[in-house]
Amino acid sequence: MSTNKETHVFQTEVKQLLKLMIHALYSNKEIFLRELISNASDAMDKLRFETVSNDALSEGESELAIQVEFDEQAKTITLRDNGIGMTRDEVIENIGTIANSGTKKFLEKLTGDQAKDSHLIGQFGVGFYSAFIVADKVTLHTRKAGSSVEEGVQWESNGEGEFTLENLAKPKKGTEITLHLKEGMDEFLNEYRLKNIITTYSDHINFPIQMRKTVDTDDSKEQESSAVEWEQVNKATAIWTQPKSELTDDDYANFYQTLSHDFDKPLAVMHNKVEGTLEYTSLLYLPKKAPFDLYDRDRRYGLKLYVKRVFIMDDAEHLMPAYLRFVRGVIDSNDLPLNVSREILQSNQVVDKIRSGSVKRVLDQLTKLAKSEDTTEYDEFWDAFGQVLKEGIVEDYANREKLAKLLRFSSTHDSAKPQRTSLDDYVARMPETQEAIYYIVADNHSAALGSPHLEVFRKKGIEVLLLSDRIDEWLVAHLTEFDGKSLKSITQGDIKELVEEEEQSLTEDEKKARSDLTDKVKNALSDLVSDVKMTVRLTDSPACVVSEEGGVSNHMARLMEQMGQALPKTKPILELNPNHVLVKRLEAIEDDKQLKDWSMFLLEQAQVAEGDHLESPSEFIKRVNALLSVGL
Ligand code: ADP
Ligand code: MG
Repeated sequence: MSTNKETHVFQTEVKQLLKLMIHALYSNKEIFLRELISNASDAMDKLRFETVSNDALSEGESELAIQVEFDEQAKTITLRDNGIGMTRDEVIENIGTIANSGTKKFLEKLTGDQAKDSHLIGQFGVGFYSAFIVADKVTLHTRKAGSSVEEGVQWESNGEGEFTLENLAKPKKGTEITLHLKEGMDEFLNEYRLKNIITTYSDHINFPIQMRKTVDTDDSKEQESSAVEWEQVNKATAIWTQPKSELTDDDYANFYQTLSHDFDKPLAVMHNKVEGTLEYTSLLYLPKKAPFDLYDRDRRYGLKLYVKRVFIMDDAEHLMPAYLRFVRGVIDSNDLPLNVSREILQSNQVVDKIRSGSVKRVLDQLTKLAKSEDTTEYDEFWDAFGQVLKEGIVEDYANREKLAKLLRFSSTHDSAKPQRTSLDDYVARMPETQEAIYYIVADNHSAALGSPHLEVFRKKGIEVLLLSDRIDEWLVAHLTEFDGKSLKSITQGDIKELVEEEEQSLTEDEKKARSDLTDKVKNALSDLVSDVKMTVRLTDSPACVVSEEGGVSNHMARLMEQMGQALPKTKPILELNPNHVLVKRLEAIEDDKQLKDWSMFLLEQAQVAEGDHLESPSEFIKRVNALLSVGL
């Protein structure tokens, strides 16, 4: 007899997801089985881990296995596991709500385009609810390991907003899920089809997946009374424990898909067994596409950690630095204790060594992709994860050189191309006389490309890297040198090689005339600028602003301000183009008010060109209008 029957309403987000499952995901229906098997496997992993410290939880069952069966008449599929199970509260918590705060963001990301959305669902891993792709009613009966038989709970829903819960005794621990298939899903009521899905997606699940042994119709009568016989469908060996030579690309890809919920195949696989003082196996994957929450700092990413084949934890973030958080995979260590906790991982020498070994493997793999003849794969990787990899320059000093070689930039060498220029490419193209690797950082690609600072570099044919990712200011603050050459912003400090060239071409009289003019403008602008100079940077524009060498760049100051951490204002250096008609005109102006207006106008337009916000845009407009009217 059942008691305590209650009806609950799904959380709004769950409702939305269910709707999506039911209506949008018909191209990849069979993944429901992979998801449910993956949950069963997680539940048995958890049980095995808990029994290490509490033997009683096994309830006398020595074998952990998943059973899958179907009933053609009733049109049901049933999945059974003898894992950890759930309490009533846990059922409500796990199967009625979505704890992850990223859910909303996920839902916002949905495009309505089925193919794209189903990929997102995969990455988001809304596992259990995928049952509703094929079922119009799902019954889940579960009991937590170690609890009494009466504490069994039955959950049931048709996926339309509500679910019911009732207490229902369950002799065996674990979870049994029955899917009442929708109209038109009969293809799954087929032994061959189910076996095929299991071996395709779940061959390397660590536990046996069993189906009923087929019996000859002749002696089925005799068999009916005897115990059901089960046979194992999958290989049930942890894939990473097998020798590489015995594994195919498909084996690796299928395990990756189970692990990552990704529909795509991985971009690269790294499988290594380390022996010696430290013993561990790592199976690491580079995905092809970025997950939707790659930049969500609260989202934990990491690898699955196993100790001697026993699952310990998901998202062990200490096994990979944050800038490689897109790497997926498994680490199985022989040297860590089974009761290892996140806290212990944080400061553990074994973990540190595994981590640096794994980082090396990933960077070597990336280097290999980057160096290969056909860079399509590396380009694909860079577009998906380049911005995250750049964080490594800031975070990982020890690997800075290796990482620097992996960076790709836009460049004036071919500004139509996306980020494809490496620092090695740049250096190879540098003429011998060029001293530095030049770059400009701006808010976006077109702002970088349109900057007046580029004028002279264009004219002289000097290549400049065009940086416009948010992280780039931090990147160049930490990457000051490459291959013995300094990296230099074209908007900061003097461009020595150009200044020297210019000075040699001037007569003493010309120099004097120039310094008279800059003094005059500096006086007029008094405390608004730190200096006024004649520039070597400009050919077409009348003026630009520059910041001190080694100081905070304009762009950095703007970024900090956007992040609510305004820096104390530093005054810019105003540089004037001596050959520009507007600058030449200054020489003749005697009236103080007019001189100030002209000087202000040059300063402000240079700031606008930089993307700076003017203190008072309305004053700027007034001044421009006044100057224009004088001309009329
Ligand atoms: P995920 O597996 O990514 O956590 P799911 O939607 O697949 O998300 O499952 C939600 C939760 O429900 C799981 O985290 C787990 O706590 C619980 N759960 C699902 N299936 C089982 C099961 N067979 N045994 C025990 N707990 C389960
Ligand atoms: Mg799951």
